[in-house]
Amino acid sequence: MEKYNKVEQKRGVPKILNFIYPPTCGICGKLCNDFLCKKCEKILENEAIFGVDKYKKRKKENEENKEIENKKYFNEHLYIFLYQGIIRRIILKYKFQEEAFIYKTFVNFLLKNENFFEIIEKYDTIVAVPISRKRLKERGYNQSELIAKEIARKMGLELETECLFKTKNIIEQSKLNKEERFKNIQGVYKIINKEKLYNKKILLVDDIYTTGSTVNECAKVLNGAKPKEIGVFTIAKD
Ligand SMILES: [Zn+2]
Repeated sequence: MEKYNKVEQKRGVPKILNFIYPPTCGICGKLCNDFLCKKCEKILENEAIFGVDKYKKRKKENEENKEIENKKYFNEHLYIFLYQGIIRRIILKYKFQEEAFIYKTFVNFLLKNENFFEIIEKYDTIVAVPISRKRLKERGYNQSELIAKEIARKMGLELETECLFKTKNIIEQSKLNKEERFKNIQGVYKIINKEKLYNKKILLVDDIYTTGSTVNECAKVLNGAKPKEIGVFTIAKD
């Protein structure tokens, strides 16, 4: 219970802001606190899996290509849902119809799960999967960073936005198959200010995990900073 009180304290949304922009349920749009109404909370509860996939650390660099494609540069992957049905519809709406506020709905829901709360609490720093500057200009926000920022704020963790960058604007991964995705994403990210991530437990945040090649490439680059550990969090897993 103490943990939930901590969340309450860290929320810190000024009352006056709530009055000007009353919080609404991110899914149905009804007025409610926590950006998730009771009815939609039930829907999410029915769909939630709270999956934790564990991966072993990769050992050798010089293994065959196929092997390398399947190797993971992170230790665990946390996800709330499978990317299907109503969850898929909600996320697509959020992603492409500029319903940016729905990230609050997901984060509030996520932190009600005591197991996930305890796992995430053990991380030091949150890093969002970056998007290119061109993409950011078009969309106006990075959806993964909104999720990352909200988790960091509520959990009192650091949010590191000055380390990982996407340097190229590439074909959208969603338009490619698994092999093409793997090739498409190579060498797209760069890391600077490595010292900020040195020896840290990093939680890398993205919205959807499909083949994992995006987060894996990010994790590979993040490993250049010699962090203590890297975990991945996504809202959903395909
Ligand atoms: Zn609702």
